[in-house]
Amino acid sequence: MILLSGVVINSELLNNVVEDKEISKYEILEIYNNSLHNNQELFLVGQMLQKKFKKHSVTFSKKAFLNIVNLCMDSCSYCTYKAEPGESKVSMMSKNQIKEILKLAKKYHCVEALFVTGEQPEQRYPEARMWLKENGFHSTSEYLIHSSEIALEEGLFPHTNAGNLSFEEMKELKKTNVSMGLMLENISERLTEKGMPHYLAASKRPKARMKILENSGKLKIPMTTGILVGIGETIEEIVDSLLAIKDLHKKYGNIQEVIIQNFQPKQDTRMRDEPSADEVYFKTIVALSRIIMPKMNLQIPPNLSPSSYQSFLKVGINDWGGISPLTPDYVNPEFSWPKIQEVEKNSLDAGYELKCRFPIYPEFFSFISKELRMKMKEMEDEEGLVRKEYWKDDTY
Ligand code: SF4
Repeated sequence: MILLSGVVINSELLNNVVEDKEISKYEILEIYNNSLHNNQELFLVGQMLQKKFKKHSVTFSKKAFLNIVNLCMDSCSYCTYKAEPGESKVSMMSKNQIKEILKLAKKYHCVEALFVTGEQPEQRYPEARMWLKENGFHSTSEYLIHSSEIALEEGLFPHTNAGNLSFEEMKELKKTNVSMGLMLENISERLTEKGMPHYLAASKRPKARMKILENSGKLKIPMTTGILVGIGETIEEIVDSLLAIKDLHKKYGNIQEVIIQNFQPKQDTRMRDEPSADEVYFKTIVALSRIIMPKMNLQIPPNLSPSSYQSFLKVGINDWGGISPLTPDYVNPEFSWPKIQEVEKNSLDAGYELKCRFPIYPEFFSFISKELRMKMKEMEDEEGLVRKEYWKDDTY
């Protein structure tokens, strides 16, 4: 029995976790089932592991979100990001628009240029092919490579999240991107069946997603992935998804962070009448993620839990992800990002210092080229994070 914050941890399984022993899938499920009667011990262990491996700090990335093109060949039932040609929310950014936002982002002392697109838009839409042609490119990935080069010239660090890119496309993007992102969301085939959220989304087939994540490992790309919680999954499917990510990281060592994202229904989607992910359930998943991957960087998006995000520090997270002082969250437009000053205050009140990181975590610096590392030096502190004088300007 271990004593944590004045509470005795009675659970033998949780004591094993605290003692760094491996736990099996069935033990994780048992911990989950026990937490349904009393979640205090699980939450305390989650917090204890966060403090042990991530100290008393929480990080974020000061970013600009560039919505490069939001046409998408897939249709996920919860997605409000995807647009159809002719809709007012269509985004097909020109080179000048990209440059303008990057210049503004630099003025705001942003560090990350987040490039987001729908899934292979040019495969489905002539409008996307035309837009690429007008800008002088054959494919979205060529355009992303060019945009990433501009970002570096403007003094920002690219992180691309463009769906299932090919091995060759990722290899090219690695030259300019300090990291990349692709949510696993869930490893369950069941969620791709008729009536389920990924039925009309071939790119979300677990095998397809895992192949891309495997490729990122082979290419040694620092990779952000994650799960989406509350889209009709079972707890076993969540645990399988987290274990799949853990196994990938064991094999390639390139998963730099895991986003644990709570489902929020959007008005213009097929899942508009579904409830948001229950907060206690979501917290339990966060704490389970911490005990499954004690050393992993774990993130929740603060804008999706606007009134309670700081309480997730008490169950194991250590990162807020990207927060932008100038661009909206185009994936969750109804949920604006909190002000960075407010996040700093709320984190401090919970006992955690807010620090700004690059879109690559310091543990992964050896994965990127010397040229990219050199560019980071100017704004880097002794911990490999962004110097406070840089990000804490009067616009933050
Ligand atoms: S979630 Fe991604 S893949 Fe699915 S429809 Fe939206 S943009 Fe396309």
